[in-house]
Amino acid sequence: MCPTGISAASARRYRRQRNGPRPPGRGSVTTVPFSDLAAMSQEVWPTIEDDYLRCLLGASYVGGAAVADFERSWAEYCGVSHCVGVANGTDAIELALTALGIGDGDEVVVPANTFIATAAAVLRAGAVPVFADVSDDTLLLDPATLRAAITPRCKAVIVVHLYGQPADMDALTSVADEHGLLVIEDAAQAHGAQWRGRMAGSFGAVGCFSFYPGKNLGAFGDAGAVVTRCPKVADRVRALANHGRAGGAARHQHDFAGRNSRLDALQAIALSGKLAMLERWTCRRIELARHYADRLGPAGIRMVGTAGPARHVYHLLVVRVPDRHRVQNELRRFGIETGLHYPVPCHLQPPLRGYTRERLPIAEQSAAEVLSLPLFPHMTRHQVDAVCVALETVLFAGVTAGTAS
Ligand SMILES: *Cc1c(COP(=O)(O)O)cnc(C)c1O
Repeated sequence: MCPTGISAASARRYRRQRNGPRPPGRGSVTTVPFSDLAAMSQEVWPTIEDDYLRCLLGASYVGGAAVADFERSWAEYCGVSHCVGVANGTDAIELALTALGIGDGDEVVVPANTFIATAAAVLRAGAVPVFADVSDDTLLLDPATLRAAITPRCKAVIVVHLYGQPADMDALTSVADEHGLLVIEDAAQAHGAQWRGRMAGSFGAVGCFSFYPGKNLGAFGDAGAVVTRCPKVADRVRALANHGRAGGAARHQHDFAGRNSRLDALQAIALSGKLAMLERWTCRRIELARHYADRLGPAGIRMVGTAGPARHVYHLLVVRVPDRHRVQNELRRFGIETGLHYPVPCHLQPPLRGYTRERLPIAEQSAAEVLSLPLFPHMTRHQVDAVCVALETVLFAGVTAGTAS
């Protein structure tokens, strides 16, 4: 018996309890969850159990070798020289902005189609978000929508690699350069995504990652990181996240009032363990996304488009459907869980209204249509088939779960 009591048999038992019995009357309908984080935890646990318990019982919880090890591995994976672990992805963006000297009324371009944290971090850094519309094909920031949003007070742009797809970094970087804007990458959904073979997060002045459990690389709780090639920016982020502390022997010297946003050692151990599986899990996501595309394309169901030189890592598999509310409810009755990313564009969320006067038609229209289908590394092709059959039925056959025999 292993010391934690989580033997393979009990892990299977937890899974059965969690998944629960099938509701009666469903016949052969396959129930498909939106994701399966427990399967990832169960796969990684045997590989980290010793380190995790040694750290837990040895009581070295914040910082230390486990954090430094993960930071080194994550920088290497991203192809950059520096990584600073922080408490979460939102802090990563806020600290990156502050470390780059952006705040105090500076304007920062943010795509309207993103998680609210991207824009909230701008506000928290004391800067002002300026929202840009997105491409109708990829739902990402593109050169035209970036150009249209830039004002004379803009100091930076946050490029968001949403859903796991890297934005066109060649074109966006050249527009940013033309206007003297710093580029910050929000790669919270894009671990291992690549543009022309180069990692998301490695193009801009900084790349910001979240390791929230549901992300492609997720901790056992909240965690995040900033990656950069610039040692000064890395030092500044590290100091900001650690009470403004100077490094090494000068630990009682606080050069400015920082805050506490550190990565803890237990999360770092979980992340290092999962990092060893990330490429395999990513390949599986891509394989399953292809299977989706092979089925949905011929059925005339619109997936969010992918650009040629992009390695999309499918954090989310997003389709656009009419009458999305009905479709989502019908799918639920078929036992298919779905998600919405995002039903309200960022610039229309209460704390952010008032920063944009113009309408952003593509972000607003697509927000009413997007539907995220189940996709996770431990999903089976059979489950993908079940989702596709249910979706086709709901969209085209006018049949509901209640009336299907
Ligand atoms: C998850 C996410 C964040 C925030 O990360 P947290 O770790 O939850 O703070 C920021 N931007 C995007 C695009 C995200 O998906």
